[in-house]
Formats: sequence, structure tokens, C-alpha cells
Amino acid sequence: MKYIAITDHYYGDGTELYRKNEINRMVYLEKCAISTKYGVKVVGGAEFNISQNVNKWEKLKKLAWKLVGVHGWFLDRESTTLDALYDYFEEAANRYDVFAHIERELHRVDSCKHGGRLTEEIKLFLRRLVLLAKEKNIILELNESSLKDDKEGAYDRLLYWLAFAKEQGVLISVGSDSHYCEQIGIFRNAVDVLNEVYYPREKVINCNENLLQKLFG
Ligand SMILES: [Zn+2]
Repeated sequence: MKYIAITDHYYGDGTELYRKNEINRMVYLEKCAISTKYGVKVVGGAEFNISQNVNKWEKLKKLAWKLVGVHGWFLDRESTTLDALYDYFEEAANRYDVFAHIERELHRVDSCKHGGRLTEEIKLFLRRLVLLAKEKNIILELNESSLKDDKEGAYDRLLYWLAFAKEQGVLISVGSDSHYCEQIGIFRNAVDVLNEVYYPREKVINCNENLLQKLFG
């Protein structure tokens, strides 16, 4: 490994980052691409939630790698339509670097009417999101843990957007979604899928060292 991005979930509104311990933690993460003695560069980041209310953004915006994803507990499942979800992403595009695992949890919105099915509306939503990413230079995340178990049709949705993203030439990043040290750097399922759809190597930032250098030093 040459780079590692640390992207713990962030649930706050930014207020606590003015306390001493939190400031120290953020100062470490802000310094992106710190070389460790083994030559691995550490990229500081965090994963946010779509529709999360962050009032104090000053310290958070310095993080080099900010992902935002759909996480059900931040959404009112009854009232959130696919259009409303798209609007959240459109607004988020000005703040974040990456849209994470965009196929996830879509079966839960729009009063669950899509279930796990890849309906025409879901396809349209995914295409719009890919085009938004392209327009705003947002990177799309291919998430290893989405592929480990096929939750509610997430795998079909993932293959669908990935094929469209390839067609559109959108950059993707592959994330391990590690919640334990032994999961770091393990991308077996993601690599299989990338080979299956022939995703161009230079469009996968994990495989493109020039781009990583440009982004993080
Ligand atoms: Zn996530």
C-alpha cells in the first residue's frame, strides 16, 4: 500500500470540533498525505450522511477526503422521494469530494415502493447522480462491503451505475469500508466487478498513482 484514507463516520454538526481533543484529532487528519516511516501516505477524511445538518463547517472542510453517502437513519423514509434525494446530492456536491456507495438503501426511500427492484425510476436516479458527479468533478465510490452481501438488490443497482459511469468516463475510488484493521486494503469483490465491466484502470484512482499524487501529494 502507498496511500490510506481514514474516513471514520462523522455524525456531529461541527460544534464539538472547537473542543481541544477534537481540534487535535482534526489537525492530524487535516495534514493530508503524511508520510509514515513505512512510506504509506495517510489521507485525512470522514464519511458524512446525506441530509446531515452540519452547521459549523470551517474545520471539517479542510479534510482532504470527504465522502457523503445515503444512510437510512438520517432520512425520513416516508417522505423522502428519489427526487428529494437527488436534490440533497446536488446540494452536497458543493461540499464533498466523493459520493459513497450510491446504490445503497434506495429500497428504503419513496415509501419503499421500489423494494429491491431496479425499476426505471431507480435507473433514472442513478444515471442522474452519475451525470451530476461528472459535472461537478465528484468521485464515485465503489464499496467492497456492498458486494459482500447482496442487500435488497444493491448489487444490480451497483452494476447498473458502474456501467453508466464507465460510459461517461467518471472517476471512481474503491473503498474497503473497513471497520476492522484486517479489512484494510482488501478489495477482492470490487476488483472482480471492475474486471467484469472492464472499467478503465486510469479512471480508478486507487490504480492511478499520478492522480493520487496530484490530489494528495
Ligand atoms: Zn457508508
